[in-house]
Formats: sequence, structure tokens, C-alpha cells
Amino acid sequence: MSSYTPMIQQYLSIKEQAKDAFLFFRLGDFYEMFFDDAINASRELEITLTGREGGGENRIPMCGVPHHSAEGYIARLVDKGYKVAICEQVEDPSAAKGVVRREIIRFVTPGTVMETKSIAEKANNFIVAVSHSDSAFGIAACDLTTGELYVTSFQGALELLTDEINVYRPAEIVGDEHVLEQLRPVVAAFNRPVLFTARTPMEKAGLEGQFELGELNHLAPARLRAVAIMTGYLDETQKRSLGHVRRIQSYEPNQYMVLDPFTRRNLELVETVHDRSKRGSLLWLLDRSRTSMGARLLRRWIDKPLLSKKAIDARLEAVDELYNNFILREDVRRELNEIYDLERLVGRVAFGSANGRDLNALRTSIQHVPALVALCADSASTTMQQLVGGIDDCSDLASMIETVIVEDPPISVRDGGLIKAGYDVYLDQLREASVSGKKWLAELERQEREATGIKSLKIGYNKVFGYYLEVSKANISMLPEGRYERKQTLANAERYVTPELKEKERLILEAEEKMVDLEYEKFVELREHLSAHLHRLQSLAETIATLDVYQSLAAVSSEQRFVKPLVTDGYDMVIEEGRHPVVEAVIEGTAFIANGTGLTRDGSSMLLITGPNMAGKSTYMRQVALISILAQIGCFVPARRAEIPLIDRIFTRIGAADDLIGGQSTFMVEMKDIQTMTEKATSQSLVIIDELGRGTSTGEGMAIAQSVVEFVHHQVGCKALVSTHFHELAHLEETLPSLANVCMAVQETGDNVTFLRKLVPGAASSSYGIYCAQLAGLPDSIIQRAYSLLETHAELEQKPQKQAQAKQIQEQQKPDSVPASSLADGGTISEEAIGDRSRSKRGGANGGQD
Ligand code: ADP
Repeated sequence: MSSYTPMIQQYLSIKEQAKDAFLFFRLGDFYEMFFDDAINASRELEITLTGREGGGENRIPMCGVPHHSAEGYIARLVDKGYKVAICEQVEDPSAAKGVVRREIIRFVTPGTVMETKSIAEKANNFIVAVSHSDSAFGIAACDLTTGELYVTSFQGALELLTDEINVYRPAEIVGDEHVLEQLRPVVAAFNRPVLFTARTPMEKAGLEGQFELGELNHLAPARLRAVAIMTGYLDETQKRSLGHVRRIQSYEPNQYMVLDPFTRRNLELVETVHDRSKRGSLLWLLDRSRTSMGARLLRRWIDKPLLSKKAIDARLEAVDELYNNFILREDVRRELNEIYDLERLVGRVAFGSANGRDLNALRTSIQHVPALVALCADSASTTMQQLVGGIDDCSDLASMIETVIVEDPPISVRDGGLIKAGYDVYLDQLREASVSGKKWLAELERQEREATGIKSLKIGYNKVFGYYLEVSKANISMLPEGRYERKQTLANAERYVTPELKEKERLILEAEEKMVDLEYEKFVELREHLSAHLHRLQSLAETIATLDVYQSLAAVSSEQRFVKPLVTDGYDMVIEEGRHPVVEAVIEGTAFIANGTGLTRDGSSMLLITGPNMAGKSTYMRQVALISILAQIGCFVPARRAEIPLIDRIFTRIGAADDLIGGQSTFMVEMKDIQTMTEKATSQSLVIIDELGRGTSTGEGMAIAQSVVEFVHHQVGCKALVSTHFHELAHLEETLPSLANVCMAVQETGDNVTFLRKLVPGAASSSYGIYCAQLAGLPDSIIQRAYSLLETHAELEQKPQKQAQAKQIQEQQKPDSVPASSLADGGTISEEAIGDRSRSKRGGANGGQD
């Protein structure tokens, strides 16, 4: 190492502190990378790899990016799950003796990016810290851009932890090494790059500097440890005080409806199964928010449906008012339009990266608050009145910004032009000096022209020589001797200075330099003053975001003709003419067929749903789950009338997510899910199983299906919707009092089957599997053979279980099993007959099962 040049030695010692990151090493106007970093970065960023002599035997691999365009390169690396360490020159190169001092000023990591280029506006960017203490797992989730910090903990199972982590969709997880080790394989299934860093917690003193003692003392050990790990990591990577991360929002997991990752995915709450896009998800449908804060909060509400009737009713009451009062809703929306992303502006103020435009955005946003407050206070909704009751509208901060910052400030905060005239006396004097200096120059130019008779003589300025008098070559002879000192020769002009010009120049430049410095100083003073009030701005932002979500839910409820649900503490779920909110919104051409649901303690709490593929079974089951979720986030629901009991947990076992777990058989996955359900479901849960018992032999599948149905019926007693292609199971209705058979009606006319998408009592008589194959255009010989095989099988199967077949006297059939692919190829099958397959995929229905 000693043979390396001093700069490379400095590089290597700094690189020691950033072994797991790309080190962006500032050299003049570039960030350079060396050695392996250079080789890897040139590959990842597709930039040219060069080399440089560094005193060693070989040339050192090197590549670099201009500092002014670094943000984009950093974003690309971070997107790919890497860390970047930013190393700056921390002393003035002209004043430095030897190598300029350099330091890492910050690490940019996937969970801690602040740069707007890298983060979605309408989604939080969470980093999660995990811990294990006192036999409990702790989890802390922080969005550094907004300062939110959520904390909770669980006794026992790792899967609860992964469920909770999944809610935050983190790009980065830090924590106790042994917890990370358990998480790695599970989180891999989340399908996005997640960066893991093992970290030990921050010591107590540091924590006490960041948070209030009272809040810390209330945290259970696992939670405290998670917070400490998070804070330690943020402190180490960001290397600055984080004034906006001050409030710890601690919650109990059982405050919210439990939804495991597969259920969230199956129900397409925030993204679709098919392409993981927001479009086509429940969030997409519900998002009529006007601010990014509202959009993010809505997502958090969907992620965490409530379990408190009181809290739900309060939300519904506000939504109801905004639903019914169109003018109020429009007024609220209009004001919200004018409000910027306060949460992230606050984050940038705390981070020290807010510029003049950010402060003005803050100001104009705050200036729209009084109008919003008045709208809420005058509304008929108690919830809305309470929301703004005693609100701190931060108007003092807005007027302060208004006094200091000009209307249209530049992006840079270092070049002046930010601070209003009249704000600072000295600044005004300096400005005056600079203005009068310029006037003086104009006057001098006039005098010199007169004195010399050279009309084209002019005064100019450049960085190297300062102010000068310029005379074209042709006129030089007209200059008097002596007074003019030649400074620079150009092709056809000469530049001169005079002693008085030099003297004035000193005054002008001094004033300008002082002016720029003073403006920066005043700006930072203001920003720091605001930093002391971040918590006020944060609670204001929360109020605005909440109002935005209310109006968003009201707007969509009104547009989609939803009705206010009656949320109860009871058991019974009664939905009249329910619809699937998203399928209804995306199907074109045909109308969505409404179907009711009655799951009651005295009637039937379980439905066994039969009907052919594509008949609408899984759409129906999802619709019931989505209506529950909508009600519990405080939204109206797609129905004519709905009475919704609080559901503590929804289990779904739906085919579409199968492919997401590599290496496990579909059947095994199904059984594991069912195992979790048998363990965790309570009588207040909702269980949804699509195509129970497929993936193994008919006999076994049917046996397992029956025993699972019996278990849910006898032991769990919860509301359940089970679809099956084993029509033979219809007999269960006779022995299980709370189970009812229903089926999706189908109309046969001649050669055609039409799906009526209407749920009717009773079991389907046949499943049309072979019929579908025929429609798909399979050769006649295959079809005939299939029918004859079916008959033989049916005879064989009927023998041992004669009485069980009471309801099945109609013709027996094998389970219908038309893979979507075969339908796709069959040009002869009509759209009408099988439904729109492409749409079924988008809607997430199980069009492709086997
Ligand atoms: P299954 O689960 O019985 O195979 P799906 O629920 O996947 O059937 O429904 C297939 C397609 O039929 C859906 O993608 C949707 O486009 C359409 N569909 C389902 N239910 C309805 C309905 N109630 N009204 C209108 N179209 C529906």
C-alpha cells in the first residue's frame, strides 16, 4: 500500500469504512470509483472503464460520473439494491496542504434514499428493522422521506413477522443477524431485491437524544431494540440529525385485520397478481386522492383494515357527509389540489436539502389550510369537525417564509437571489452597493468613450481578469499613453484596466460575494427555524392526508354507486346485490351481475360453491372478501345493502399465487395454507378456498376437501366460502347444518352454454369439462372417448358410496379441467360462452388452473 500515491492511500483508507458500498470519491467535478468498485460500476451503469497510475505496479481501474449528473447514477445503483457512499472534499482545495481532506458524508441505500428521482410519489419508501428479544420479534418501519416510524412486536412465530414486513414492502431490512438469517429465504419470495444489513442497536444515550423518554420507556424490549437498531443505522448512514423522525407510532398487531401476504396478493389489494401494477388493484380503484400524502395514507389504510367498530363508524360518517354533499366534496378537492407533499417537504427541511422553491411550496400549501379548516368545521360531519378541532394551521410559519423568500427563487441556494428586499438591512445595503457600483461602471464607460472618442469602447467582466475596458485593435492608437494598463490581448481587441476601475471592482465583487454568502446564511437560518417546528407541520400534514382519504373514498363510492355498510359487532354478514368493485369497473360491454351473500349464525355460515370454470365462482368469493375489507377501512361498499360484521382475519386459498413459491408443489402449498388456517382462524374470520382439494388424485382430493369442510364447520365455525369441482360433495349439505350448496347458474341452449353469473341455491349438475373441450374444437374422436371413459369411471366410483350420491342422480362427471391455454387456442369458442379470458386474468380470477 505504501507505494500508492497519497491520494490513493486516502481512497483506500476511506474505502475501509464503506466495504459493502460503491464509494463515490469526489475528485474535482467528478465522482470517481477505483479498483473493483470501478469494474462493477462500469458494468452496472454501462460507463467506460479507464485506468490511472496510482503508484502501484499496475494501473488502477477507474471510472467516474460528473457530479452534477450523479443523482441519476446513484439512483440506478440503489434501485438494484446496492449502497452508495458519497465521499466529498471537506476542505477548500486551494487552502489544502497535500491531499485535500475527504470524508464520507452520507450513505445512500435502498431504504434511505431521499432523492425524488428514486422514490415513488404515491408510495412510502420504508426501511424495516427487525429484532428478537424476550422471545418476541420486534419490527420498526421508517420512511425517512416523511419521518414516519411505526413499531410493533409479536410473540412467537416468524411467519407473523414476515406478514408484517410484507405490509411495508421494504427495500431494505436491517437487524439482528440471527433474525435476518431466518428471513432471507422467506423474503426472497417477495420478488423484489431487498438489501440486508446486520446491525447492533444504538446505545441508550443516542436514543434519548432522538426520542422522548416517555415514549421510549413504554416500549416492550423487542420494540425498543428494533427502534434502536433503526436509529443506529440511520445515524450511521445519514450522518446528520433527523429532526423529523421523532414520533414513535407503536401499535398492536391485533388492532388490525390480519391478512397474510398471499391473501393480500390474491385479493389484489395494492397491486395485481398478473403484472404487479397498481392498475387493476383495489388501491387503483379507490385512489381519487388529490395529494401524494393522501395517496400514501390510503394505501396504509388498505394495508390495515380496522377492527374497531367505533373507529370504522367515525370514518364512515365523514365519508358519508362527503358522499352526500357534492359541493362540499368539490370544494375540498379544489383546496387539496393546491397542497404540495408536506410530509416530504418536511423531510427535506429536516434533512437540510430543502431549497427556496421547497419553502415556497410549503408556504402556499399552508396558506390553503384555513379554507380547508373552514370547510370541515362548517360541515355536518362530527368526524370532520373533530379532525380540524384545535388544529394548528402553522400560519406563522407561512408568513415567516413569505417575509423572507422571494416569489420565484432559483433552484440553487448558493447563488443568491433568494431573499426578499427589506428583510435584512445589511443585505439591502450590499445590494445597493452592488447596484450603484454597476451604475458607476456605466457612467465610467460613457466618460471613457467621450474622453477617447472611441465609440465602441466597452466595459466587460470575466472571472480571470475581473472588470476591464475593451478596445478594438483598430482604435488602439486613439488611446492616450500611460493611464491604461494592458491585461489581455484578443484576436482583434485589447483589454485594459485603470487604477480606479480596479478599486471599484474590489468594492463591487466584495459586496456581491458578501451578498451571496449572507443570502445563504439567512436562508439556512430560516430553514433551521422551520426545523424546530417540524412536528407541527407533520401533524398538519396528517390531518390533510386524512381528509384527502375521506374525500377519495367518498368520490369513488359516489362514482361507483357504493352504499354505506352497516358495520356490526355481531356474526351475520348480509349483502344484498353485492358486486366485485374492481371487476365491475374494468369489464367492458357487459354489465356486472350482482349476487347476494347471507352468511349467518342461524342460517348457513358456509357456502359450497359449484359451477363450471369461468362461471364466476372466484370473482364471487373475492367480492365478499373485498366488501369486508372496504367496510373495515371505512369505505362504502358495492351492494344495494350491506350488513358487515367485523372480520378479524381473512384466509384465502386461491390458485393464482401458486407460481410464486418456487420449488413447492401446488398441493403442498395448499395444505400448508390450510394448516395455518386451521390453527389461526377464529369464529370471526372469513375463510375462502377456491378449488379445494385439487392437485392430487380425485379420491384423495375429495376426501381431504370433505374433512377440511367438516373441520371448518365443526371446529372453527367461521364464515366460509368454498368452491369445488367435486360436485359429489354436495351431499354434505344434509349432514352439516350450517352449510349450503350454491352454484353459478348456466344456461344451455342447443350447442351453447351461457354463463349467467348468477348465484343460485343448489349444486351444479355437471361441470361441462368435456363440453368445454368440445367447444374448444378438440377432435371428435377424443371427445367421444372422453365421454365413454367418464361413464365407466362414474360407474366405478358410484359403487362404494351409493347413498352419498342421493343428490347426484344426474349424470356423473369428472372434475372439469379445461386449462386456459386450450381455450385460448380454440378459435371456435365464443366469447360469450366462456367469458372474456383476458379480462379474467387481469381481474386475477383463476382462469389458468388445472
Ligand atoms: P371461475 O372462478 O368460476 O372459474 P371467474 O370468477 O374467474 O370464474 O370468472 C370468470 C370471468 O367472468 C371473470 O374474469 C369476469 O370477467 C367474469 N365474471 C365473473 N363474475 C361476473 C359477474 N358477476 N358479472 C359479470 N361478469 C363476471
